[in-house]
Amino acid sequence: MFSFDIYSPEEEIFDDRFSKRGLRLFIKRDDMIHPFISGNKWRKLKYSLLRAKNEGKEHLVTFGGVWSNHLLATACAAARFGFKSTGIVRGEDVETDTLLFCRLFGMNLIFVDRQAYRNKSLLFDTYFSNSPTAFFIDEGGAGPEAARGCAELVEELRISYGHIFCAAGTGTTAGGLLQGLYKSNRNTTLHAIGVLKGAGFLSDNIRHYSPQNQNFIFHQDYHFGGYAGTTPALIQFIATFSATTGILLDPVYTGKMMYAIYDLADKNFFSPETKILAIHTGGLFGLLGMKPKINAILQK
Ligand SMILES: *Cc1c(COP(=O)(O)O)cnc(C)c1O
Repeated sequence: MFSFDIYSPEEEIFDDRFSKRGLRLFIKRDDMIHPFISGNKWRKLKYSLLRAKNEGKEHLVTFGGVWSNHLLATACAAARFGFKSTGIVRGEDVETDTLLFCRLFGMNLIFVDRQAYRNKSLLFDTYFSNSPTAFFIDEGGAGPEAARGCAELVEELRISYGHIFCAAGTGTTAGGLLQGLYKSNRNTTLHAIGVLKGAGFLSDNIRHYSPQNQNFIFHQDYHFGGYAGTTPALIQFIATFSATTGILLDPVYTGKMMYAIYDLADKNFFSPETKILAIHTGGLFGLLGMKPKINAILQK
């Protein structure tokens, strides 16, 4: 029942903006791991699911916003691996595509206001203190188990890269990758693109996962106005990228990461003959949260 075999190839992206500088760009297709338990969310959940099973837990309880990729991944993973699930959701009961899928996967949803949402362990105790089979999974799946799952990505790589890029929300994925790269002794610089505004503190959080690994750069200037922020330039970039590669990106995470890579290439950040890898962390349903904005920009 617990098969974690995955398919996530490394594919080359052919684009003038790289080839004319002697650069090669690749993308690790973690978005192909699963349509709903997508990208890094699969890797982040893996060891939590195993621990829950080992501890005899039957009910996954986690947290997220109304467009949370993590909530959706947990709902689907619970259904697939034989758990019940509850999502404690920040904000009003609004109908989003993400919550619709969560419900279809059998997730029970509890809506709480922003104030109450801040204290996750209190919420867990309030609803589940009498429930010994309930299992707490933090917002975004964050935690040491999650980093361990993400570190495994490095072992799958077939090519050596000078630079690897990922988007950072909580920074757990980047932290895990930093660990994995250190263990594998690869001479690779990890770049994390902060998607939140003013998330400079994340840089230290990420370094904390593997303090010995100095090959790390945190980019704070590609958040495009913050988590839910976007700009016409970002949407246009995503549309052009999707139309020329057949690979979708979302405006919250992977679009910002890929934009940063192209921008850095244009600014001659990379030395020639370098191989660059972008991690596609999946999570395409985030796109649907921006339907009106995207339509308004693309229909112009
Ligand atoms: C959740 C998510 C991230 C952020 O991962 P962290 O480990 O929290 O930094 C990045 N990309 C996508 C597509 C996501 O859904």
